[in-house]
Amino acid sequence: MSEHTKAIEFAKELDLADPLNSYRDRFHIPKDSSGNELIYFCGNSLGLQPKTTKSYIDQELHDWANLGVEGHFEATNPWMPYHEYLTEAMAKIVGAKKNEVVVMNTLTTNLHLMMVSFYRPTPTRYKILIEGDAFPSDDYAVSSQLINNNIDPNEGLIKWTAREGEDLPRLEDLEAILKDQGHEIALIMIGAVNYYTGQFFNLKKITELGHQFGCKVGFDCAHGAGNVPLDLHDSGADFAVWCSYKYLNSGPGSLAGCFVHERHANDKTLKRFAGWWGHNKNTRFNMRHGFDPIPGAEGWQLSNPPILSMAAIKASLDIFNEAGIHNITKKSKKLSGYLQSLITNMHNDRISIITPKDEIRRGCQVSIKVSKADKSLHDKLTEAGVITDWREPDVIRAAPVALYNTFEEVFEMVERLKFVLN
Ligand SMILES: *Cc1c(COP(=O)(O)O)cnc(C)c1O
Repeated sequence: MSEHTKAIEFAKELDLADPLNSYRDRFHIPKDSSGNELIYFCGNSLGLQPKTTKSYIDQELHDWANLGVEGHFEATNPWMPYHEYLTEAMAKIVGAKKNEVVVMNTLTTNLHLMMVSFYRPTPTRYKILIEGDAFPSDDYAVSSQLINNNIDPNEGLIKWTAREGEDLPRLEDLEAILKDQGHEIALIMIGAVNYYTGQFFNLKKITELGHQFGCKVGFDCAHGAGNVPLDLHDSGADFAVWCSYKYLNSGPGSLAGCFVHERHANDKTLKRFAGWWGHNKNTRFNMRHGFDPIPGAEGWQLSNPPILSMAAIKASLDIFNEAGIHNITKKSKKLSGYLQSLITNMHNDRISIITPKDEIRRGCQVSIKVSKADKSLHDKLTEAGVITDWREPDVIRAAPVALYNTFEEVFEMVERLKFVLN
């Protein structure tokens, strides 16, 4: 057997030994124009569609057609409490208690709502700290919160960056910033898994540090939820937000998750932007004045939610529930570990991996830095049937996802990468 054949056989054995192997069949896998399945490593950007999604949405379309407004109570899955059907599964995925989690709005909207409550600047404590390479929307959101409070972002926004010549910010540097300016920082808001590098931060440690200096601490878990083991309750974070269309496979622009720590559950004095769906369920329809928030995360809801989008979330969460988040995060690490080792073994000095080697500090995404390359390299890879994404100036992000990607695809992807690099 040639080395190449042996290596493919090895990948196939890993697939056979994989307890989640059969879940790939539950998803629609995109194909090229000749009908060949693409190697889809972009689940960190838009997760694939479960084959069951259509029937979950059809159910609600059917009930709407037949019941009209009565569907709020009479639908097979009554719409009134529909968001509640998602809570338990979502709470498991992020390691939270049920009363700490709600599915509502979209990610950036939730981030703003959380900052209304947890970013309360005073004349002496008014700064916001984010990670250096934060996702642009997060950067815009925190900057606009500062501006809304008449604070110049040049003065009020602090970035925790990687050291010169390094790719990943270090915890000791965060500690140094806090020792220096912690008394002026009102909020620390970090991407739990950085979208660019794939670095999974130590949420508990960051929260403890932040709280020690009197800061509120929140996390954007867009790249964490469904990918890495999150333990939001135990981390002690004040709040967290995440979307459902990346690793959570709930469809483009689908609704987002929001976590508010239990210790804030009954605090009605917290300032918040309110709407009727956050009001006490028993008196919501009395349509009287005086906002009475539901205890816990549900009390931050604004509107009655889009059921069709929630049906797509339910289809996906049912799969997560069945597969088990523990099995998923375990396979995430194995897949990306395998990808990292194959890339390292290429011994190509144009290529380096910026994602942490330590599997505790990453999920399934591997960010591959290619020197002397531009986007045309990524385009060639796409032509070769591998869907990844390109982040300027020189990074290919590849995310082999536990629920539908295989070890054989990882092997094949690296072969095609070698080919396009030649
Ligand atoms: C994907 C992502 C977003 C996108 O925000 P939307 O409001 O869902 O458009 C924001 N922040 C991070 C960190 C992300 O990864």
